[in-house]
Amino acid sequence: MDFLKGIAASSGIAIAQAYRLVEPDLSFEKKQIDDSAKEIDRFQSALSKAKTELEKIRDRAKTELGDDKAAIFEAHLLVLSDPELITQIENKIKTENVNAEYALKETTDMFIAMFEQMDNEYMKERAADIRDVTKRVLSHLLDVQIANPSMINEEVIIVAEDLTPSDTAQLNRKYVKGFTTDIGGRTSHSAIMARSMEIPAVVGTKTVTKEIKNGDLIIVDGLKGEVHINPSPELIEKYKKELADFEAQKAEWAKLVNEKSFSADGHHVELAANIGTPDDLEGVICNGGEGIGLYRTEFLYMGRDQLPTEEEQFEAYKAVLEGMKGKPVVVRTLDIGGDKELPYLNLPKELNPFLGFRAIRLCLEEQDMFRTQLRALLKASKYGNLKIMFPMIATLDEFREAKAIFEEEKEKLVLNGTVVSDNIEIGIMVEIPSTAILADQFAKEVDFFSIGTNDLIQYTMAADRMNERVSYLYQPYHPAILRLVKMVIDAAHKEGKWVGMCGEMAGDEIAIPILLGLGLDEFSMSATSILKARSQIRHLSKSDMEKLAEKVLQMKTTEEVVQAVTSVTKIE
Ligand code: PEP
Ligand code: MG
Repeated sequence: MDFLKGIAASSGIAIAQAYRLVEPDLSFEKKQIDDSAKEIDRFQSALSKAKTELEKIRDRAKTELGDDKAAIFEAHLLVLSDPELITQIENKIKTENVNAEYALKETTDMFIAMFEQMDNEYMKERAADIRDVTKRVLSHLLDVQIANPSMINEEVIIVAEDLTPSDTAQLNRKYVKGFTTDIGGRTSHSAIMARSMEIPAVVGTKTVTKEIKNGDLIIVDGLKGEVHINPSPELIEKYKKELADFEAQKAEWAKLVNEKSFSADGHHVELAANIGTPDDLEGVICNGGEGIGLYRTEFLYMGRDQLPTEEEQFEAYKAVLEGMKGKPVVVRTLDIGGDKELPYLNLPKELNPFLGFRAIRLCLEEQDMFRTQLRALLKASKYGNLKIMFPMIATLDEFREAKAIFEEEKEKLVLNGTVVSDNIEIGIMVEIPSTAILADQFAKEVDFFSIGTNDLIQYTMAADRMNERVSYLYQPYHPAILRLVKMVIDAAHKEGKWVGMCGEMAGDEIAIPILLGLGLDEFSMSATSILKARSQIRHLSKSDMEKLAEKVLQMKTTEEVVQAVTSVTKIE
């Protein structure tokens, strides 16, 4: 197979060698051996190779990622030189005449079980260290390569079954030119992050890890959702030209960086950016973002082993508010759950995590955590134009309870003499159909809505946003979705409230004409989509799009909607 079709998750074209980030096959059989001294030598040699490798990784991590990230490899090195563990493995080889793989695995499994049973977080982490080290030594015994993404020092395209948001956050942009995965959808968080990092990506190919070997030359076409394996020189040339055209197009859009977003007939909309960390601000500014429509605060909580303190959060929120210099910043309170896990909260595994104990449900239960976040936000509020929204609101009661907690924390701070802004708007994400349907009731109580279509689509169509098998049902332009969006916009406007959209649909070129026609006030998207969207909106007339929107709302299928939009606008 030299070609695979997947889901275009992040635009752009990458041409580089494949780097497989997959679980290695470390299976082996128990064997009786004749010469235990020779077997111990083989074990010692694997140990020392693992040690040298880990030392290199640790040194690299120290210079590139800092001491705290390097500490984990330091802990692994300690395990490797633990005399108790090593002696037990060697004794087993000697007394039972078994192969080193078996002696290693049996002994480390025993230590892991012992540590995991202890009621002590530190000891539980030691179990994880032993598991990692066992894998590394086994890989040397079996002569199987395991992936070391932090050691990548040349341009590559990552090939993986899936990438978690924290895997994606660790990708080094200097070397990782693109990625492609077996599973995932356009709105899985790794895809969203790839867009904000401007890494071309094709996800949901189903078989890319089976088809591609380490070192294969591949092309990831994040515009069409295609992956080409060991392409011909002619195809490489063709793609090099497409890449140059894409860059030239981007340079055209870049001319709009300081412009406001007006339609051809003079209607202004706000084009804002979705961010995950204060580091994303630079991208927002270079792409002419008129505000932050969604700050996904959960990334502050991820990639660490305990909750961030109030002070740490305050610093992050302050940096974003100051960086945006008075432009609106909509901060979403913690939305953990679904595909964003926090291992240190030790939440039980759920059968349906996207429908489970997550986001506002978790925050209303774990109130200390929620209150800490609200206090940090309140304290930072004086540094800019802060708006707060709650994720995954399903009922008015949830909104009222969350807002009451906010008011309590605000009152306590004010009584203490802390300066907080007194015009912080409080809104909600509309991502659950019950809330969209009852938008007229919510609109009387909230200050604004932000439509979270990534989830709204999956809940309305009952199609998991992460599952490529049902991605054919994940239809942003389906008339059912468009009608829900219209209900929310109309309900808000009737009460004089504004409505944004922060799901990926807001930056989608087929959706934009319809959303403009429906009267959406704020479009929030990956920063890298803003200039393209601004260019598109400048060519659209709001009044023509109102007529288009009216028409598509009466249609029966996604295909009819797409056909209507492409024939009226200039989208190919
Ligand atoms: C959404 O659901 O549309 C949204 C923006 O939130 P997230 O993608 O973080 O679930
Ligand atoms: Mg959501």
